[in-house]
Amino acid sequence: MRHLEWHRNDHIGWLRAAVLGANDGLISTSSLVLGVAAAQTKLEPVLIAATAGLVAGALSMAAGEYVSVSSQADTEKADLARETAELASKPEAELAELTAIYIERGLSAQLAFQVAQELTGKDALGAHSRDELGMSQATIARPLQAAMASAAAFIVGAAPPLLLVIFVPLASVSIAVSVVTLLLLVILGGLAARLGGAPLLPGAIRVAFWGVVAMACTALVGRVFGIVA
Ligand SMILES: [Zn+2]
Repeated sequence: MRHLEWHRNDHIGWLRAAVLGANDGLISTSSLVLGVAAAQTKLEPVLIAATAGLVAGALSMAAGEYVSVSSQADTEKADLARETAELASKPEAELAELTAIYIERGLSAQLAFQVAQELTGKDALGAHSRDELGMSQATIARPLQAAMASAAAFIVGAAPPLLLVIFVPLASVSIAVSVVTLLLLVILGGLAARLGGAPLLPGAIRVAFWGVVAMACTALVGRVFGIVA
């Protein structure tokens, strides 16, 4: 009976990407809010900036992810097409290649040849794409899924500052957004570090530091524009 196992590294990749995406959403939207709030005293421009920042950021993350994963998908497709052609034109050489891979992994020559023969008989392209090209269901490129995951991560990060703009009186928005964003950055930074197997505290401090720099610079620019305008 096949038992299900949950392997940490099966999910690490996209979990870490999601945390970093949320990080982007949080820092860019909070900075926008602080910048516009520093430049003028009305709520509407701050709300519009936060909403536009969320939408624009999510779409640009999705577009970037879609393009980069699509090019990975194109490469995979080309590799599979080449492999299919080689399997058709040079079946013996491909069988020898697969056998050599299994010998390298520790099988005896005879067993390696038998395994290669049987797997080739069952699904030659499957065996070569898995064992020669290193493709698996977990790693295969899914551009649309990646784009949506990236946009969702950004929106999750951008939502807290937007919600604060909606629910907190304008006079307290800047301090509320600064404090909440800093707390969330420490949590996200620590989480990303932990997921990457790195020490928690330096990761949390690093992310929080750059978040503060981004918010402070944008608020300063907003203040200057507010004075000049
Ligand atoms: Zn091959």
